[in-house]
Amino acid sequence: MREAKLYSNLKSGIRCDLCARRCVIHDGETGFCRVRTAKDGKLYSLVYGLIDGMAPDPIEKKPLFHFAPGSSAFSISTSSCNFRCQFCLNYHSAHRETPVGQKLEPEEIVNLAQKYDCAGLTYTYTEPTIFMELAHDTAEIAHEKGMFNTFVTNGYMTQEAIDYIAPYLDAASVNFKGSANKKFYQELMSVPKVEPIFDAMLAMKEKGIFIEITNLIIPEVGDFVDDTHAMAKWVVENLGEHTPFHLTAFAPTYKMSHLPRTSAATLETHIEAAKDAGLVFVYSGNVAGHDYENTYCPECGFKAVERYSVYLSMNNLNRDGRCPKCQTDLNIAGVEWMVQGKGRFKRF
Ligand code: SF4
Repeated sequence: MREAKLYSNLKSGIRCDLCARRCVIHDGETGFCRVRTAKDGKLYSLVYGLIDGMAPDPIEKKPLFHFAPGSSAFSISTSSCNFRCQFCLNYHSAHRETPVGQKLEPEEIVNLAQKYDCAGLTYTYTEPTIFMELAHDTAEIAHEKGMFNTFVTNGYMTQEAIDYIAPYLDAASVNFKGSANKKFYQELMSVPKVEPIFDAMLAMKEKGIFIEITNLIIPEVGDFVDDTHAMAKWVVENLGEHTPFHLTAFAPTYKMSHLPRTSAATLETHIEAAKDAGLVFVYSGNVAGHDYENTYCPECGFKAVERYSVYLSMNNLNRDGRCPKCQTDLNIAGVEWMVQGKGRFKRF
């Protein structure tokens, strides 16, 4: 147990201020995520230094296509989550009753990342908001060593949480499901409201954190083309038309194993809706070999980055991340960690 950051002592109990649930927790109880507990007037994290999952991954797997293309990111997670998605790919870890894992301190995590030749770290697999203190301390050391830090997040964070991690967070992949449809979030993810996610993205933008957005399309229950269009329009108006936007295909899993895979044709309908709303960089996910995995220059049409599935095949970008043919700015961040030319990700 490690004393948590970001909590308030109220008459009614201790309020956790990490995620938008703002659970009020009584002595001996845990919050919704099951990994933050109150004891003698203090809040504690049960997952600080308890690593449930870790692996070196290509940054494209996050997916982050416009941040440090071709680099390797050491990915870590702890048990549990603040959502309860019925289609969770990682439910073994995210829905655990009791946290488990390997004991590792922040310095040891960064040392492992360096050992595996990673340019940075990603806090992922489960929701990093619920292990924020560990992510913060690890990210601080990683920055000291010249490495990047990225989150794969559901975005359900408070302003205080963003203020806390912002000095060390370079980029975030904000993952939506079902095009942010409110009923879908309430019924299939146990999430009461979606507005805090949009507020969090505005706060991240304000702090200079590079944002990419992912939206999972699930046949029959989470296939809302009008909502994809509305979401994309919000992104154009609030984050900018060059914000990378990924539409990913669902694969049957967990309590949604009876549903079919999302077809490429369905995904293309959503891609068209996002483009129609004004987004420039729209990608497909989980359809290996699909042309929308690549980055084309919107000015001259040159294929600037070629990918296959979660791997970079060829990076033709200039050293500054621009189109090599016409010098157009393609909204590429983290160029100092970018790998040019052929992808060199090693499978360990
Ligand atoms: S991080 Fe956990 S305890 Fe804190 S508000 Fe969110 S669900 Fe509740």
